[in-house]
Amino acid sequence: MHELSIALSAIELAEQAANGRRIKRITLEIGELAGVAPEALFFCFDLATKDTLAEGAELEICARSGIARCEECQSTFPAPSRLAICDCGSPRICLVQGEELNVKSVEFCQARREGDGVAEQAERDR
Ligand SMILES: [Zn+2]
Repeated sequence: MHELSIALSAIELAEQAANGRRIKRITLEIGELAGVAPEALFFCFDLATKDTLAEGAELEICARSGIARCEECQSTFPAPSRLAICDCGSPRICLVQGEELNVKSVEFCQARREGDGVAEQAERDR
């Protein structure tokens, strides 16, 4: 499944950056024309984070809308699909935005720092 491999590679990247810390949130930048179904991605993310540093982490998707540039008249316009046609009638377009598939940011739990460690301590004493 496409979304599962996206989830797995995002988690792998986040784990590399985590350096042993627990992952709190992963934000992905996904273009609307990247062919990714967000619902499927959320579902796969929950499965794929099991037994990783990202277990229980939040997945945030930052959607990027499609934008194309016409190769005939050079105008740019919103493109709901790869097959969009320019107002001038030309189908010769190139997408300038909307195919992104990136890990935008990863947030970690800072349990080792003072202050934030209080909650962790309380958890253990229970
Ligand atoms: Zn045009």
